[in-house]
Amino acid sequence: MADIRNIVILTGAGVSAESGIDTFRDAGGLWEKHRVEDVATPEGFARNPDMVLGFYDMRRAAIQTKQPNAAHEALARLDELWGGELLIVTQNVDDLHERAGARRVLHMHGTHLNAWCTACDVRSPWTGPLIDRPPCPACGTNALRPDVVWFGEMPYEMERIYASIRRADLFVSIGTSGAVYPAAGFVRDARELGVRTLELNLERSQGSHWFHESRQGPATQLVPTWVEETLTGLGG
Ligand SMILES: [Zn+2]
Repeated sequence: MADIRNIVILTGAGVSAESGIDTFRDAGGLWEKHRVEDVATPEGFARNPDMVLGFYDMRRAAIQTKQPNAAHEALARLDELWGGELLIVTQNVDDLHERAGARRVLHMHGTHLNAWCTACDVRSPWTGPLIDRPPCPACGTNALRPDVVWFGEMPYEMERIYASIRRADLFVSIGTSGAVYPAAGFVRDARELGVRTLELNLERSQGSHWFHESRQGPATQLVPTWVEETLTGLGG
């Protein structure tokens, strides 16, 4: 694997799970007693904005009490030391990759720590609640919503992600279920382009058979091992 230069890494809930961040998938579609269609769709927000804003206020407060784990730290180390292209495409809406020190991170599903103004389209860093309808820092309108991509909405920066996959020598999927599209399709795009593919996940995912190699175990064990292999030229 000495010829690997450009790497695209897709991360999902399995990377943050060991930091104590759960998702709707952990509880059979019930997410802290809420139905996904009520709290993670534009229709749910239109029906009951107070409930949705309150739910995300709770999530936003909760992630700020969590800490990056060994998987986040290993990926930050790879980001720091890897001389080739590297892009960490995360489906996670927490900021644990960044707090571990990673810089080359793309949040395809948005982030809890932004507020998005639906009046002026500006995204502002945000750590507090939104339920009291605070004014947008940019335009003053009281029209902020969570900057999180809901079901039925288009993930962010898809063109940039596909461009990175086209240039990649290695695609690595870490801690994702292989069930949520379009991210679940990246491995097939990579395969068709002749990119080497590796999965690191707690269990074989729905898309495991698409990968050249699949390793099973906790992210905090698999990721540091793979990062060291890669930095010493043994990985792949
Ligand atoms: Zn605004």
